[in-house]
Amino acid sequence: MASGFFVLKGGSSGGDGDTDFLPAEGTNYGDAPTCPSCGRFIGMCEWLPPYRVLLECYSDDYGDFAYGPGGQFLVSDLFVEKFNRSNLTGVSRFDRVLVERVVRRKRRVLNTPTYYVTTLDYSSCAIDPRASGMEYGHPPSETCPECLFGGIINRYDRVVIEPSSWKGEDIFTPRGLRVIVCSQKFVEFCAHNGFLNGRFAPAETCSEDFGISSGA
Ligand SMILES: [Zn+2]
Repeated sequence: MASGFFVLKGGSSGGDGDTDFLPAEGTNYGDAPTCPSCGRFIGMCEWLPPYRVLLECYSDDYGDFAYGPGGQFLVSDLFVEKFNRSNLTGVSRFDRVLVERVVRRKRRVLNTPTYYVTTLDYSSCAIDPRASGMEYGHPPSETCPECLFGGIINRYDRVVIEPSSWKGEDIFTPRGLRVIVCSQKFVEFCAHNGFLNGRFAPAETCSEDFGISSGA
């Protein structure tokens, strides 16, 4: 059964607009956000400005999406312009990125678009751990009611959003799993505008096995 949610997939595709990036040397990071209830880290360390990157493009054209480490992604100026004129929700801000160096794997690449780093709103939307087939490993601990982390995740079979927790956000990170989830409307918006390198997989097909033995 299709949920209507999609997961934004990073990594290299080999397809049109295949682009990724690395934060430049000397990039500064702040603290990682913690859960107000249990104090666990609930995200990656905050990337502090100035946002300087090394861009790598494997295709004839630059992507409107570029992927970096830790689930971070950039979007093009064209994306920002269209997004700001849409009625899509979930982004709290776009910050301009300084491209320090570009590695081009193909010749025909022309002007580098201006890229922006995307910060998402805090979402109260939550994963349904049971329906997602989540398995937690050590340390066995109680699941925090706020952040929904219940120890290290060994694996999950699919990404299922707890329906009543979704308030209509079009792009968000659900509580309980660090993935970026998009609405059907968001995916259609990307297709309609022909954005390159936006790679989405139906949430019910997204599984992960971190290869950690559940042990004894
Ligand atoms: Zn918590």
